[in-house]
Amino acid sequence: MSAPIGSPSSAAPPPRVSVIIPVYNEEANLGELCARLVAALEAEAVGPWECLLVDDGSRDGSARRMEAQAAADPRFRALRLRRNYGQTAAMQAGIDHARGEVIVPMDADLQNDPADIPALLAKLDEGYEVVSGWRRERQDKKWSRVFVSRVANRVISAISGVRLHDYGCSLKAYRREVLAGVRLYGEMHRFIPIYAAWEGARVTEMPVQHHPRTRGQSNYGLERIFKVILDLFVVKFLDRYFQKPMYVFGGIGLLFMVLGGLAFVWMMSLKLFAGIQLTGTPLPLATVFLGSLGVVSVLLGLLAELVIRTYYESQGKRTYLLRPGGREGEGVADGPAPVPGPEEPAAGTHP
Ligand code: UDP
Ligand code: MG
Repeated sequence: MSAPIGSPSSAAPPPRVSVIIPVYNEEANLGELCARLVAALEAEAVGPWECLLVDDGSRDGSARRMEAQAAADPRFRALRLRRNYGQTAAMQAGIDHARGEVIVPMDADLQNDPADIPALLAKLDEGYEVVSGWRRERQDKKWSRVFVSRVANRVISAISGVRLHDYGCSLKAYRREVLAGVRLYGEMHRFIPIYAAWEGARVTEMPVQHHPRTRGQSNYGLERIFKVILDLFVVKFLDRYFQKPMYVFGGIGLLFMVLGGLAFVWMMSLKLFAGIQLTGTPLPLATVFLGSLGVVSVLLGLLAELVIRTYYESQGKRTYLLRPGGREGEGVADGPAPVPGPEEPAAGTHP
């Protein structure tokens, strides 16, 4: 990644709000986007802000437009990824370079409305750490997309236990602390509120506007739903079993071994007591198949345990998190723990 263009001198005080906008072939939208963002944030006097435009390897003139914007208005900064990594990676790059206390990601295509940002910020001020936008009236051309997304949101709600109507809405607002240890992979930016809630953050949602895309093309089709479902498995696995992968692999392995054992007993009893020729039955095959799958699964579990020990011990990570600033809470974290900050004594000194 190249150094951000328009990065202010280190003497400048950090802004309150960092708006992060991944940009992929959005040349036609950038002008109006920036103008509307400025208008929205100035109208409500949200305090000092910056906007990071992250070019995700666009092939059109987006990068040039962004850099011109950053040169003309120091509140804008342009970051350029070397190639197209995807929206989530672009968002992560923006988060890594943001300096604000509050992080507000949004789309570049004007489907999200910058005019909603002040209301999100006001909601944060009520004491929340995450405010998630809810596109109550979605304006996507294909009804199938809206329907699939509705089903997906229900499923994600049920599996994660974090009740939101619209995980996929990019427009959200986070207090910086909740993003400190979050590393985004795949399509996982939509799960940040889930990670945050699991770590004890106060999460809420509020309806935001959604407009049809008028210029440029959507970058996604329905195939995204499979990625989201697979990501959800990963998120759930990380939450529940990150520190004890053997329970998953070993559990499945034991189950297979038991099933293999049952097949074996059944097979032998058929042969010994009923005199049945086993070549005609699938039981020998099932015995061998289930038995070896079981053994392999347990071995994989052992490997995963080694990997986890390497993860924690090579980096000096702890298997728990303390609440910042105090010793009153338990704050046990099962997930991939953020590195303890300076305010969190990194030893097990909990009274
Ligand atoms: N985007 C990106 N990299 C990509 C695809 C998309 O940075 O590989 C950006 C895109 O420019 C937009 C946002 O992610 O700002 C959402 O993309 P899009 O509007 O295509 O998604 P949709 O709204 O159709 O879900
Ligand atoms: Mg869009």
